[in-house]
Amino acid sequence: MTEHAPGGSRLPQQRRLVTEIPGPASRDLLARRERAVARGVSTMLPVFVTDADGGVITDVDGNSLIDFGSGIAVVSVGNAAPRVAARVAEQAARFTHTCFMVTPYAGYVEVCEELARRTPGTHDKRSALFNSGAEAVENAVKIARHATGRQAVVAFDHAYHGRTNLTMALTAKNMPYKDKFGPFAGEIYRMPMAYPLRWPGGRDAARAEALGAVTAQIHAQVGEDNVAAVIIEPIQGEGGFVVPPEGFLRGLASYCAEHGIVFIADEIQTGFCRTGDWFACEHEGVLPDLVTTAKAIAGGLPLAAVTGRAEIMDSVHVGGLGGTYGGNPVACAAALGAIETMAAHDLAARARRIGDIMLPRLHKLAEAYPVIADVRGRGAMLAVELTRPGTLDPDPVTTAAVSRACHQAGLVTLTCGTFGNVLRFLPPLVIGEDLLDEGLTILEDAFAAACSLEEPSPAG
Ligand SMILES: *Cc1c(COP(=O)(O)O)cnc(C)c1O
Repeated sequence: MTEHAPGGSRLPQQRRLVTEIPGPASRDLLARRERAVARGVSTMLPVFVTDADGGVITDVDGNSLIDFGSGIAVVSVGNAAPRVAARVAEQAARFTHTCFMVTPYAGYVEVCEELARRTPGTHDKRSALFNSGAEAVENAVKIARHATGRQAVVAFDHAYHGRTNLTMALTAKNMPYKDKFGPFAGEIYRMPMAYPLRWPGGRDAARAEALGAVTAQIHAQVGEDNVAAVIIEPIQGEGGFVVPPEGFLRGLASYCAEHGIVFIADEIQTGFCRTGDWFACEHEGVLPDLVTTAKAIAGGLPLAAVTGRAEIMDSVHVGGLGGTYGGNPVACAAALGAIETMAAHDLAARARRIGDIMLPRLHKLAEAYPVIADVRGRGAMLAVELTRPGTLDPDPVTTAAVSRACHQAGLVTLTCGTFGNVLRFLPPLVIGEDLLDEGLTILEDAFAAACSLEEPSPAG
């Protein structure tokens, strides 16, 4: 049965293709784009959007596509979600900017109150608001350095933290994020990630060895007393939806506490109900010192935050944090609408339900297609990793072929992973269940088509 988006759907919640993908009107715009927009800004699926709602995106050619991307985990509450759109319209009609550092407004304070209430832990918290995830990460590092008087920052293999200079240094993957953009910021130390599929010796070894390997390496190469912060995504995003084994994050958090290191959870992709909890850290009861958020926080408007222990946040002198647009009133209104939607419709539970529907289908797919080496994720943040069957050699070619076949059939899918061999699924949390089923069927067909080209048809 169709479950409509909270508040009812404006657009028919159905896939409908009336042209090839992309259609002629999109191709015209693509040609204009190529003459006007810098080549460095890439596009995964060049259909030009006119409208989007619930689980569908419509384009200039009249096609309606199923959305398994949410604009990279941003429109979890659905596109132009009613409470977001209403609050934005109301705020935009009153005032659009004063600069919180000049003359403040209540919306900023209310967002910070919500962040204190929703992020893990009941301790005294403070927040500061920014415009993008990268800017939040930059500020979390500034705050951690200021609070500790130390400089070193520890990040992980496969990490993604953004594209500004400091966050490029924190990000692991060279192409396309870092190549020839250096020199990068100093005092960043990269540690092995507890990556169950790829840990030498496998999953059980990852569980047993990863934390010890990281702490030994910090001791030997950096020295605990020099480390201001350890930053980690509780489930890695762009790096491939890597889920560390249970206990790794908890162990890391207590190691940080023991050594006076600020533990920063980068929940920019995982946060706000995506993984089946408000924040992914909650799954294991991990209490970060600082949490960075962005993406889903404001239903599509640019907003980001650093939230953390009052004594760490307030160690920074007056005027040490800020920015012209940080916590823009329209973005704050959107965030309040998005958070209200998540609470009213219990979207964390919706994320768990999506996982319950998708995971068995993905596991079945993995049984049928040996190119799938791993199925992983939590809630509505799920992925499959593709390798040459029986090996760990990444297969980005089949990954791209499957993704392309999905796009042709009207399903928006994204890839990720250090080796470009991971298909990730991030449907809006308000997607109807029949659309979810249809999207999964398209994915199954895409595997059938892509894999029949290179190997005998799978059993079953
Ligand atoms: C997207 C992302 C960022 C960067 O956010 P922007 O808003 O693109 O700057 C940082 N960390 C994680 C985990 C992300 O997924």
